[in-house]
Amino acid sequence: MARPIVATIHSDALRHNLSIIRQVASESQIWSVVKANGYGHGLERIWQSLRDTDGFALLNLEEAILLREKGWKKPILLLEGFFSPEELETLDRYRLTTCVHSNWQIQALAQATLSAPLDIYLKVNSGMNRLGFQPEQVNNAWHKLRNSDNVGEITLMSHFACAEEPEGIQEPLRRIELAAKDIVSSWSLANSAATLWHPHSRRDWVRPGIILYGASPSGRWQDIASTGLRPAMSLQSEIIGIQNLRSGETVGYGRRYQTSREQRIGIVACGYADGYPRHAPTGTPVYVDGVRTCTVGAISMDMLAIDLTPCPEVHIGTRVELWGNNIRIDDIAQAAGTVGYELMCALAPRVPVVVA
Ligand code: PLP
Repeated sequence: MARPIVATIHSDALRHNLSIIRQVASESQIWSVVKANGYGHGLERIWQSLRDTDGFALLNLEEAILLREKGWKKPILLLEGFFSPEELETLDRYRLTTCVHSNWQIQALAQATLSAPLDIYLKVNSGMNRLGFQPEQVNNAWHKLRNSDNVGEITLMSHFACAEEPEGIQEPLRRIELAAKDIVSSWSLANSAATLWHPHSRRDWVRPGIILYGASPSGRWQDIASTGLRPAMSLQSEIIGIQNLRSGETVGYGRRYQTSREQRIGIVACGYADGYPRHAPTGTPVYVDGVRTCTVGAISMDMLAIDLTPCPEVHIGTRVELWGNNIRIDDIAQAAGTVGYELMCALAPRVPVVVA
């Protein structure tokens, strides 16, 4: 029998989450952000569940080409643009919309030989200080692009550093609007947090990622509890061993957990080599046999240990949910000092995946 760990991708949850985003941003078109292999869910597995979207936004040319070869005809946006002038031929062949964040890209576009103009997302730096033109440079960049025969529609895009905070986008948005209001007619500013919590930023195209997958952009599940968003991934395993310990015995590497009474411990076939966070401390929630219990001791490469006190009926073979509907991925991430984004993306290739 195979090792009893499995991740399930819930197609109905993806469809449902997209429809919720539609309701929230009813005046906007939607770029479904599926970079990083659909946030670890598997682009090939999920794109059809999201086919009601208006476009897919991603990073890699390989992922864009895969979608085109599967028959996706609507727009595809390259969120970091192209990395060398030679790639423009591929962008042209597959009709990809590209972000432009640097002067060399504007030059390369102007000099390229294309079969038809490409639509462009002009990226403005709104304080993240990663990619993009400063607001004061936008006018100049926009006019250079506008003067090129290779450029079709130009949309102004930005990605806020703190959209999950109530006051997180006001000042950056004011600066962008001031710099671009007379030239720009199409805008794309909102990631998941801005889509949910800053209605003013939704504009022409929203770019939600994490909420499509049913996790919270703030890292706190409670912040999206009222939206009805549902987790698109669950990770399940089984109890493969049981230890009945006396008081004073220890569990796992480094003896990091010590019993203070007689205690029944379950061993679950899931470890950090499966993508479970190694930094999850004793007390990280686990769902087993209809109740919440928790991990005890260090997470190993292939196993973790849980307290079976609240669930005395558990036996070898009992199913365990590591994250999903009963235990939110945000709760595990929070316990381990990370975010749901990282856990989704870190699901290990060795974990079998089924699509439900
Ligand atoms: N837009 C851009 C440019 C991004 O880089 C990302 C993701 O990091 C998103 C949108 C989606 O962000 P989120 O998953 O927080 O909605």
